[in-house]
Amino acid sequence: MKILSVNAGSSSLKFQMYEMPEEKVLISGVFERIGIENSMYTIKINGNKTSKNALLPTHKEAVKLLVNELIENKVINSLDEIKGIGHRIVQGADKFESSVVIDDKVIETISELSALAPLHNPAAVIGIKAFKEIIPDAVAVAVFDTSFHQTMEKETYLYALPYNWYTDYQVRKYGAHGTSHKYVADRLSKILNREDIKVIVCHLGNGGSITAINNGKCVDTSMGFTPNAGIIMGTRCGDIDVSIVPYMMQKTNLTYQELDNVINKQSGLLGISGVSSDSRDIESGIKEGNERCILAQKMFVRKVVDYIAKYYVLLNGVDAIAFTAGIGENSISTRKHIIDSLKVLGIKLDEEANNIRGEEKLITTNDSSIPCYVIPTDEEVMMARDTYKFIEG
Ligand code: AMP
Repeated sequence: MKILSVNAGSSSLKFQMYEMPEEKVLISGVFERIGIENSMYTIKINGNKTSKNALLPTHKEAVKLLVNELIENKVINSLDEIKGIGHRIVQGADKFESSVVIDDKVIETISELSALAPLHNPAAVIGIKAFKEIIPDAVAVAVFDTSFHQTMEKETYLYALPYNWYTDYQVRKYGAHGTSHKYVADRLSKILNREDIKVIVCHLGNGGSITAINNGKCVDTSMGFTPNAGIIMGTRCGDIDVSIVPYMMQKTNLTYQELDNVINKQSGLLGISGVSSDSRDIESGIKEGNERCILAQKMFVRKVVDYIAKYYVLLNGVDAIAFTAGIGENSISTRKHIIDSLKVLGIKLDEEANNIRGEEKLITTNDSSIPCYVIPTDEEVMMARDTYKFIEG
């Protein structure tokens, strides 16, 4: 059975098609610069990548082209072979505790939640509608980044703000990257061959979040009402004293939108280093002795370690720690600095095992008190799995 996993952004559309239940990737790709000039797309099939220019005024043209490519490349013979489409939705707030089959009411609710994810939810709705028009018979499923975090208790997800900010304005912690955290937690449970495990998953990418998970359920996560909470990210500041915002508005006369832009797009690794938001550039800067790159890396590591320590206590000990996403999977030195900072817990890095990028591996020694793993994340396969479940029942 063929299932598509789709991630629609305001000007992009990423997709991956699976043969299920084998979970074999048949084709993947991305349409870029939709609605902007010089739009193009890239397709990967059997390891071969091709990029083409295309006229993509809206997402609908992208979906039409996608269907053409599927047929031309003989991935499908006809549209009715596509039985399901899983759509990634960034913000489901407290409205969706799990993935759901999309109907008009679901679309309406996702749209209503746009205030909480103004860049993402409207784009997802555009994607859903474009696929519905061109592949109407496929079962469309919404997979939410926030669902996995819905098991947090009220004392965890509430902020100490006037209570009516929560009841009237839905201000609370929602978290993000839920699909990734769940994927990695599921892998850990398979690796350790147990369901009842306590784990900490460190999703360290351009955006980053850390989650405490007990028995497959999220207990706490570092992102908050928005993704700009928790650890330091590529361009986001993460946790700060919120009073800095009104103070700097007064000092600089920046509007709140301009300030929002600073804390989301000009802070984090970029803000501290002044060099780049990309951890590879920070690593190069460190090699050249750039003091601010060294500082940015130290601050990043410190914040990750703070969260691991906090969640270790919250979970009353943990069975495993995992690193995933761009930095977690690839940055050998970042993992080393984090794990070396956890020595007091009896965690011991295996330097040789840690010398890998992008593969699943145990990176601590046999006598380490807690095993640490690198686990490449796979949000797309989780979306395909959830979609498949609705079709197979
Ligand atoms: P993601 O958002 O998961 O795509 O992760 C993006 C982040 O991963 C960026 O900061 C990249 O610099 C980082 N990254 C990717 N590859 C490497 C690498 N080989 N070494 C260090 N960081 C990497």
